[in-house]
Amino acid sequence: MTDFTGKHGLIVGVANKRSISWAIARAVAGRGARLALTYQGERLEENVRELAQELTDPLILPCDVTSDEQVAEVYRAIGREFGGLDFLLHGVAFAPREELEGPFVQTTREGFRIALDVSAYSLVSLTRGAVPLMAARGGGSVLTLTYLGSERVFPNYNVMGVAKAALEAAMRYLASDLGPQNIRVNAISAGPIKTLAASGISGFTSILGIYRDHAPLRRTVDAEEVAAAAAFLLSGDASAVTGDVFYVDGGFHAMGM
Ligand code: NAP
Repeated sequence: MTDFTGKHGLIVGVANKRSISWAIARAVAGRGARLALTYQGERLEENVRELAQELTDPLILPCDVTSDEQVAEVYRAIGREFGGLDFLLHGVAFAPREELEGPFVQTTREGFRIALDVSAYSLVSLTRGAVPLMAARGGGSVLTLTYLGSERVFPNYNVMGVAKAALEAAMRYLASDLGPQNIRVNAISAGPIKTLAASGISGFTSILGIYRDHAPLRRTVDAEEVAAAAAFLLSGDASAVTGDVFYVDGGFHAMGM
């Protein structure tokens, strides 16, 4: 089993116990990693602090990814506490609810801006902040979470599909920039999982049914299955993997019909 003993990681995107980021936090902490977890705003602080009670000596920090100052403060705190960083998990996405229903052609300029800023640009700014801390460790691993709606049309996924396409492209450009410093950057494209973010997508439950009927494994996936793949990609076991979208979706992406 992948070992994270002595490794330090930053996990961004825990909202509650259903969050994919939380499953990933548990998987890597269970293998020995010490973690910094962020929460977005006071509304989620209590949730994250309560969940983090099962971790050993976690660092809990506020971070709205649209604030450059908060991102900078996260890395100052990690530098002080950890002295470096081995991995970063980016599990953040948001679009205004009204953009995730109805025709994509109605997407507003502001909805587009917010979705791309929170869901895609945040990978760039968070990765940039991590670079000096990862360089201090001789390298690192960055992982983000995406969805097949970046490549194919899913009803109501709308601007989030466009944001995920930008996220995947950003992942590849970052992998190219940072490879010479031994920093790897990858994405997991996960099958649909019932989480807070997913509940914002109109008709989400019907997507689950389509995976049950058409994915090779005849089911969707759970957060623990995504977390197992994430632990691999975040670890030294994946030392030659970068710039990749890794599918954990029961094989759905392989199907034509
Ligand atoms: P989740 O638990 O709701 O996680 C999404 C996280 O993003 C929440 O913690 C959310 O906080 C945070 N966030 C939104 N805006 C933010 C901001 N400005 N600053 C900081 N954090 C912010 O849902 P999830 O399904 O686990 O999503 C995690 C990632 O997996 C997302 O990138 C999602 O697109 C991706 N993904 C999900 C699925 C799925 O079916 N669930 C499939 C493939 C990929 P708030 O609650 O405060 O907004």
